[in-house]
Amino acid sequence: MATGDTKIIELATGVYARLHEGLTNAGIIVGDDGVLLIDSLRVPSFGRDLIADVKELTDKPIRYVVDTHSHWDHSWGNEEFPDSTIIGHANARAEMLDVEAQRWWLDRVVSANDAWSEEAKTVTITPPDLTFEDQMSLYFGGRQIDLLYFGRAHTSGDIFIHLPDDGLLFTGDVAQDGGVPFMQDGYLKDWVATDNRLAEVPCEQFMAGHGPVGEPAALGEARDFIVALVDGVEAGIADGRDRDTTAADVTASMSERFGGWRGFERVEESAAYAYDQIKVG
Ligand SMILES: [Zn+2]
Repeated sequence: MATGDTKIIELATGVYARLHEGLTNAGIIVGDDGVLLIDSLRVPSFGRDLIADVKELTDKPIRYVVDTHSHWDHSWGNEEFPDSTIIGHANARAEMLDVEAQRWWLDRVVSANDAWSEEAKTVTITPPDLTFEDQMSLYFGGRQIDLLYFGRAHTSGDIFIHLPDDGLLFTGDVAQDGGVPFMQDGYLKDWVATDNRLAEVPCEQFMAGHGPVGEPAALGEARDFIVALVDGVEAGIADGRDRDTTAADVTASMSERFGGWRGFERVEESAAYAYDQIKVG
């Protein structure tokens, strides 16, 4: 494996979580006559490594790639799938066609100076060619796959992939098992409402875009995390505290329950971002 440190877990017959510790996960669903992937990963070489892993599992063609959302680390491998139908939310397509938003991400990725930063400059953004607004169902290899949209949250176009017969759910970056999501192009108040709807989807296990496979209780905790952050920021605004004071207060009050989560160090700047977003309404 060129990208290393990946682990593939079979969640149900023909349904796999491809976990990449510290980086981005992908889902692999093998049907009767083709494969559906969930996310194409961060740069083309990561997409090619994913394809190599699929070839170890099956020689069936990859027919669909579902983008959980527009973020670079989930969708910038899309160009490696020219023969597949790329599915996503209409808003995710719009975000990927938003030159300014993609430039913002590219600047962040390049300036981080990671192993993939140079390659990121070569990416051809390839948005979904099949989009939907609220819900879409695929009947794929004898299995029902529901693609669900519950409103804005981590981005404006986050979708959830639900396999009702298997009790499985793929949550993208909206809700992880014990991990703080990136929030700085998110919609914090909408996020709570989206999490509430997500919590109603029956599942036994879920795979997020980052971190380990989780159980449903972790989805409730992910919701509690966003609620705590939004409530803390709203209290700071209501009390007339300034942005930086509020962000520090929110971080301190959340650290007891959530301080052990992956990425907790990003809470303070995320709370500051939330403060600006919530203050203007
Ligand atoms: Zn994301």
